[in-house]
Amino acid sequence: MSTTKRAYNFNAGPSALPLEVLEKAQKELINYNHTGMSIMEMSHRSKDYDEVHNEAIRRLKKIFSIPENYEVLFLQGGASLQFTMVPMNFLKENQTASYILTGSWSEKAFKEAKLFGNVVEAASTKDNEYRNIPNIEDIQFNASDAYVHLTSNNTIYGTQWREFPNTGDVPLVADMSSDIMCRPIDVSQFGIIYAGAQKNLGPSGVTVVIIRKDLIEKANTEIPTMLKYKTHADKNSLYNTPPTFGIYMLGEVLRWVEDQGGLEAIEKRNEEKAKLIYEVIDESNGFYKGHAEPNSRSLMNITFRLADEELEKQFLAEAKEAGFVGLNGHRSVGGCRASTYNAVPVEACQALREFMINFQKKHQ
Ligand SMILES: *Cc1c(COP(=O)(O)O)cnc(C)c1O
Repeated sequence: MSTTKRAYNFNAGPSALPLEVLEKAQKELINYNHTGMSIMEMSHRSKDYDEVHNEAIRRLKKIFSIPENYEVLFLQGGASLQFTMVPMNFLKENQTASYILTGSWSEKAFKEAKLFGNVVEAASTKDNEYRNIPNIEDIQFNASDAYVHLTSNNTIYGTQWREFPNTGDVPLVADMSSDIMCRPIDVSQFGIIYAGAQKNLGPSGVTVVIIRKDLIEKANTEIPTMLKYKTHADKNSLYNTPPTFGIYMLGEVLRWVEDQGGLEAIEKRNEEKAKLIYEVIDESNGFYKGHAEPNSRSLMNITFRLADEELEKQFLAEAKEAGFVGLNGHRSVGGCRASTYNAVPVEACQALREFMINFQKKHQ
């Protein structure tokens, strides 16, 4: 065990990684599997790397119960490049794609898709300052749509979908960057799931794409090679040099998820963690004001405000002093945010809970 003091890390992304994973990576850093070199220094065509790569794919499929008719890809360019790749591959002329707007990231995805063709709003909760997820029955789309796009967890506003719309034959595309694998879900509801790894899965630099195989075959063909899903699917994400160290780390995080008891256990722990903090907000008599409506609250990003900016500044300053990191809200909305991703330990949430209770006692 390491004796290094670890921060109470509530960063929104990149964010906390499991200590066990970091320690294993440290141990293997300069001599991976008796090769006399680091994973970073070996060919992406070598046998050792090949095992790491395929093991990560295999683990992801197993833990997330991904059906046989889906491909798992490791791409680069972050979730942000998926905002481009999705419409570039799937939006055809004379077709429309529908976007459900629930926060800044879905707005960005929507804006990017406009560059490629016809897009429409399927629903939006902007008028309510993105405090909620729309009712499923209020979502409008057409049977002829190329796809319907949603953001499963709104990192900045702190809301999360509980159940997903049934879009029938229209592929449902989900940006799951900030809540992928925080709980078990039925992958078969989706045509495409994508996520930057740096919140729940590993370090930044690798983007996971889970895509139904039949869609890959139907994609537009007159687009750049590197931006075609088919290019990467045909070569098992080894068309060009992949982010090898990031994929190795992702594989180790997946191993850790397995060791924790898989996604049922992870979900239970996440619920316990989030409850520790939401409870303080709810029992504070308005000292802490949650941004999200209770039935749309995120398990991953807990957003709240205090009476005024002065008090928020004080809160953040004292929190920093006490060893908490990353509690400031996103620069676009202000306030406070605790990101309680999979790797954030229960003890860190317990410590934050106590800090919040004591801060209120001192300042109300
Ligand atoms: C962080 C985040 C992104 C941006 O991811 P990059 O990998 O930085 O491009 C997109 N969508 C959501 C929901 C996010 O949380």
